[in-house]
Amino acid sequence: MKTVIVIVAIFTFVFLTCTVLFGDSPSLRNTPIQRVKKSLLRQLQNTSKSFSALDQKLSGKLTWSLGWSVPVFYLAVISTCLYFFFTETYPKVLPSSIVESWAHTFYIYVSISILYTSTMLVIYSDPGIIKNSTDVARACARSPYNELIFFSGNECSTCKLLKPARSKHCSTCGHCVMVFDHHCIWLNNCVGYYNYRWFMLYLIANINFLFYGGILSFAGLKKAREEYSDIGWWKLIVKTTEEVKITGVFVILCFLFVIITSAFTLLHLRYIYLGVTTNEVDKWSELEYLVELGTLFRIDQPDGKFVERGMYFDKTNNKYIQAFISLNDEKVLFTEDDKNFPKLKKVESVERDLDNIYDRGFIENLADRLCVNR
Ligand SMILES: [Zn+2]
Ligand SMILES: [Zn+2]
Repeated sequence: MKTVIVIVAIFTFVFLTCTVLFGDSPSLRNTPIQRVKKSLLRQLQNTSKSFSALDQKLSGKLTWSLGWSVPVFYLAVISTCLYFFFTETYPKVLPSSIVESWAHTFYIYVSISILYTSTMLVIYSDPGIIKNSTDVARACARSPYNELIFFSGNECSTCKLLKPARSKHCSTCGHCVMVFDHHCIWLNNCVGYYNYRWFMLYLIANINFLFYGGILSFAGLKKAREEYSDIGWWKLIVKTTEEVKITGVFVILCFLFVIITSAFTLLHLRYIYLGVTTNEVDKWSELEYLVELGTLFRIDQPDGKFVERGMYFDKTNNKYIQAFISLNDEKVLFTEDDKNFPKLKKVESVERDLDNIYDRGFIENLADRLCVNR
């Protein structure tokens, strides 16, 4: 019975994680997965409203403590696992060919060091905070507005500074961030232009740590299996010694989390390949949706703006008419009754008719995101 509960809990956890990570993909639009993601987000939003009220009463202390509790928890889990690895698995379960090998010993320490270092680097590095007009100018010089998902002339209502293209205001950290990717709750920091490279290092360090840890632990289990050759793998883990049980848990945890972390890293590599940030994925998906609906048009002039067709209630004539609204602020720009109605060209395909100016090919995108040629 216990085993069934553990398996169901693990599958639910993996399903919810994948839903939150991939639920926004346009190919999943109108599928149960996207609906589950939306309802999960709605629940989260409701909880966050009551949370904000309580946090205000405590003058922000709740946000501060909760923000730090996740990375502290993550580091505590890793450190506890390492403690059990070095007191149980390493001396009692691992085959001597590993324990006595200097190459393995060296690689174990390198893997652990890179994991802790990269975690600290993402937690404490500047993601590209926009503090003043110099930072605004620097961010604007790097990323021009495309007037499709980033529009010129908008000001951040909190920072009172111009919003450069590809930037976003993070409500958790309280500032605008250059080439904003996402706010990482695991690390309690934004991931943006200057620390995306440390974030990728952190992901690779985690994959290496989990994969290598999983292989070592599995080698230990295999050795234990030789001693208890008359029982199956599951019985070996749950019915023999404490150290074998701990090693078995390591194999399961490493196997599960290496899949999740690798999927997440591949997703980021795909974003780099497409020339988008996590923050921009939703914006492009919205445009894709408008193209699917056939409601996105471009004013047929050199550098003509993109407009969205919608219905608008004309109070004077008491009827609905077709209106064309700005993608930036949804203001009505002109209606079908306007005298100087411009010539429009329908956007038929995202690939053919919309140009992502931030996509300069995988290698260039990668170099840019990793700040190689800043
Ligand atoms: Zn801001
Ligand atoms: Zn943030």
